[in-house]
Amino acid sequence: MSSQKIFLFDFDGVIVDGMHEYWNSSLLACEKYLNSPYISVDEKLYKRVPNTFKEIRPWVKYGWEMVLIVHEIIKTENPIKHLNKDDFINNYYQNCERILKDNSWIAEDLQRILDKSRKYQINKDFKSWVNLHNPYFEVINFMKELKKREIKSGIITTKGKIFAEKILIQLNIFPEFIFGYESGTKIKIAEKVTQTYEILGFIEDRKKTLIDVKQNSETSHIPCFLADWGYLKESDRYNLSNEIKLLKLGSLEELVAI
Ligand SMILES: [Mg+2]
Repeated sequence: MSSQKIFLFDFDGVIVDGMHEYWNSSLLACEKYLNSPYISVDEKLYKRVPNTFKEIRPWVKYGWEMVLIVHEIIKTENPIKHLNKDDFINNYYQNCERILKDNSWIAEDLQRILDKSRKYQINKDFKSWVNLHNPYFEVINFMKELKKREIKSGIITTKGKIFAEKILIQLNIFPEFIFGYESGTKIKIAEKVTQTYEILGFIEDRKKTLIDVKQNSETSHIPCFLADWGYLKESDRYNLSNEIKLLKLGSLEELVAI
């Protein structure tokens, strides 16, 4: 095994809070490319991210699910609201599958129009698009500290690689690598990365992903940290196995203070 040390980071909810961007880009995808007869998009919708969207975000794994959720929130009839959102969340995956089927949508197409919506905004007004993201500066500083100690940083995200890359450049962060959804599942990517690097930690805000890492024999040795500042479900903070540590934003530096 190589002695090259690295920390792995998820992107959304770990390095940046992109809530405004998710809402804007998914809404624009619905408005411009979805051609749904069940919605009408008005300018005012872009102004504020509904709480219902924020409340459902912790269940999201892939970007396309956000296009579907925005569609359900802005529907003129029977939209998802704060009061009925639990029905949706309680059977999240089945509901997403059902909605895909009812509308004759394909997940890949929704992902494609989300990426198209992002590209459209980047071409139109790059600065405004970047400004929809709020970086967690503690994480950015931690990555800079790692660099000083000659420890690498790698990004594994379910976003398209180019979008994460564009934001990281703005933040002056040049990681060793960025793997996006195009590169396959996070577990498969982590398996590959372990062959070349010594992984000191994986910081991620999706608990299920960390559980999967711990249950896979090839990756179970990776120290896993659940990002307390990310898009967590309330229940994620409880019943954590002692293999997955809850990490606070203020405790990042302790990870290298050895
Ligand atoms: Mg995340």
